[in-house]
Amino acid sequence: MNKINVGVLALQGDFKEHIKMLKDLNVPVIEIRSPKQLEEIDGLIIPGGESTTINKLMNKYGFKERLKDFRRSGKPIFGTCAGLIILASEVSGKGSGLGFIDMKVKRNAYGRQIDSFEEMVSINFDHKPDRNGFKSVFIRAPKIVYTGKNVKVLSSLNDEILLAREKNILVCAFHPELTDDTRIHKYFIEMINKNLEEK
Ligand code: GLN
Repeated sequence: MNKINVGVLALQGDFKEHIKMLKDLNVPVIEIRSPKQLEEIDGLIIPGGESTTINKLMNKYGFKERLKDFRRSGKPIFGTCAGLIILASEVSGKGSGLGFIDMKVKRNAYGRQIDSFEEMVSINFDHKPDRNGFKSVFIRAPKIVYTGKNVKVLSSLNDEILLAREKNILVCAFHPELTDDTRIHKYFIEMINKNLEEK
């Protein structure tokens, strides 16, 4: 097993929960607050929160260009909820994405009345169905309304795509970091390890 460092973008949102989960998995974590720190990490998590705020702060600190290089280098990036919106190629309504994954998303698309809810979903990690359900926590979650042909769907519920991957980009509409189920984080760590092995 390679020694890896995982970064969690710590500008706004629930980055602390991701950090805790990675620490529970004994993975060294770095809180990323400046673009320079991207050089120290092998993979990055963009947490849930408010995508417009995270976007504004990313612009202010000059993250965007550096993140483009990071992605081009093959290093994996995992976005949950607001992080998913930030990685998407198209955001309907107010908001914009980096265009790292070919999908269109609609923010806050599950409606005001059900701002947050939980569902058990099943996950297909690279065509290996995991029989145990995953408790998915949705908080003002976005809907993925379109995906390009290279996007692999790892989980969906009632035709809504919830977890998807395109090459080194992984996105999730719900919040695995708010449960104690580490399977999705472990899958992301595997993506990081595989990328390093291929170098
Ligand atoms: N509604 C938020 C947004 O549009 C995302 C919510 C979340 O990350 N839990 O940015």
